[in-house]
Amino acid sequence: MFNQYDVIVVGAGHAGCEAANAAATMGSKVLLVTMNMNTIAQMSCNPAMGGVAKGQIVREIDALGGMSGIITDKSMIQFRMLNKSKGPAMWSPRTQSDRMRFAEEWRLALERNPNIDFWQEMVTGIIVENNTAVGITTGMGIEIRSKSVVLTNGTFLNGLIHIGEKQFGGGRTGEGASKGITEQLVQLGFESGRMKTGTPPRVDGRSLDYSKMEEQKGDEVPGKFSFSPSTTPLLQQKSCYITYTNPEVHAILETGFDRSPMFNGRIQGLGPRYCPSIEDKINRFSERTRHQIFVEPEGWDTVEIYVNGFSTSLPEDVQFKAIRKIAGFENAKMFRPGYAIEYDYFPPTQLSTTLETNLIQNLYFAGQINGTTGYEEAACQGLMAGINAHNKTHDKEPFVLGRSEAYIGVLIDDLINKGTDEPYRMFTSRAEYRILLRQDNADIRLTAKGHKLGLASDERLKNVEEKKRSVSKLLNDIRQKKIDPDKANPALAALGTAIIEHRTNYAKLLKRPQINIYDLPSFDEELANYLAKYDHEVLEQVDILIKYEDYIDKEEKLADKISSLENHTIQNDFDFDSISALSAEAREKFKKIKPSTIGQASRISGVSPADISVLMVYMGK
Ligand code: FAD
Repeated sequence: MFNQYDVIVVGAGHAGCEAANAAATMGSKVLLVTMNMNTIAQMSCNPAMGGVAKGQIVREIDALGGMSGIITDKSMIQFRMLNKSKGPAMWSPRTQSDRMRFAEEWRLALERNPNIDFWQEMVTGIIVENNTAVGITTGMGIEIRSKSVVLTNGTFLNGLIHIGEKQFGGGRTGEGASKGITEQLVQLGFESGRMKTGTPPRVDGRSLDYSKMEEQKGDEVPGKFSFSPSTTPLLQQKSCYITYTNPEVHAILETGFDRSPMFNGRIQGLGPRYCPSIEDKINRFSERTRHQIFVEPEGWDTVEIYVNGFSTSLPEDVQFKAIRKIAGFENAKMFRPGYAIEYDYFPPTQLSTTLETNLIQNLYFAGQINGTTGYEEAACQGLMAGINAHNKTHDKEPFVLGRSEAYIGVLIDDLINKGTDEPYRMFTSRAEYRILLRQDNADIRLTAKGHKLGLASDERLKNVEEKKRSVSKLLNDIRQKKIDPDKANPALAALGTAIIEHRTNYAKLLKRPQINIYDLPSFDEELANYLAKYDHEVLEQVDILIKYEDYIDKEEKLADKISSLENHTIQNDFDFDSISALSAEAREKFKKIKPSTIGQASRISGVSPADISVLMVYMGK
């Protein structure tokens, strides 16, 4: 019934979809096995993509040739560039998405890929021969063979849902839990752990009074995620709204604390620190009289509303009573209660840089199964696992991104070297090269790599090369062109910045924080005509490169210095026991994590600079 596949992807969440698409686009024969084909690319929690650091990841996925950016553009209902008042390292695109269209667009995109077959069933085990994954077994007892397996089970592995004192098995509300895989992997020698996450109730938008809330509109000139011209920014947008909890809401919620699985010890797993439940917020910050609630539409046509900020696993009657005391929610009708879910994950220190497991060859883990949280974090791991599963089964080089190349590189490097015991989400503060890893230059950083892999199209490469040429020409011209004080000073005075005494070049003026490249046309008509030839993306790039030149130079130099350590490779079978001068902790971590370079070894938590020196001396470096 089944052919032998190159790659079997287990799970069609954000990680699984990207993994299947990447491997299939690169030429692998892929089978995507998922428990329910009606929930492909389901947004389990909020209907939104991107945000701080996460938006950068979506841009990176897109630049490499992944699909999350395009799917998001096709299904967004609102676009905002967050942190626009801060420096460009912090600018972060975020969309509100139409949940149903997001899932539909993903499914249609996967169905259009002739290299992807589908099978709806629960995978219960992995076929392992000679320490290598060679297929899967399903609940119906079917065996399907493949050269590699990518596991992306999300929150489903032994998932346990909690609402007040009620507890039931499930991977998400209304869907069954996945059984068998954890038990088999533990038997094979894997370490597993338990985490938890939660979601707020959903309400009927027709029952809300928006006049009591603040409107939050999308950007006046909205952008989009994908660098590809195949998508366009929104012409119309839907607003979100902001309201607040109050002491009365808190008092009602507190009446349910004794029945809360969070407080009575029934939930064991650690939850996402930066996405706490409302009961957690009230408990931890008891001095605060209100917490912000974002009222987010779930789509263009549906009336369903996501109550962002009100994640809870308190009993449903307490949720209902409390929510009705929020301004604008007095007559709210609830569609679904909030809940918490506990699930198994596998500490990611058991993975190599390609997301292949150290224990079993050709077995890859991606997404929430690795202890992360969030669609974007899952999607980028899926992309990297899909690429590497394809490359390995086609005798190609592993594809790894460094910390100075992409947030994706930071995420995987953090996971495999430091591990995580609470749900890991990306922040800009996790990246040491923030000014290099901007959302605006993800295409310049990554598209050529994606094209070389066979993932990013020729058209994408052509576009980015053209962009690079235009940026370089404009940069050069702006550095050369000079303006005399007579022309510059009226404009400078109008912008509230110091006038100039002598002729000076435009680049010097652009370094001033009060002036940006869009102001230059008001300085000089000839320059205005010249700049009109360039599109917004090129102008923005030049503005950033000039303004932040010193920071960029500094980070580039540091990245070059550090990357020299990455060139010193360590063989997979290196015998760390033979170096007696290593500390016991370093030896133990090296044996477990199997770093592939000295650079990676240096970032493992608990490894000291002295251990690295010993290692380098031993290796004759
Ligand atoms: P998922 O999206 O969970 O997809 C897993 C897929 O695997 C599903 O298609 C499932 O059917 C399939 N599957 C599982 N086991 C099997 C099997 N044995 N055989 C076949 N198919 C299988 N993220 C945040 O950033 N913030 C939040 O506040 C937040 N809250 C959340 C609340 C809840 C209740 C849930 C469920 C998730 C929440 N998330 C949150 C997490 C977010 O949904 C995930 O990070 C993201 O969806 C993970 O993507 P994934 O691809 O790893 O897994």
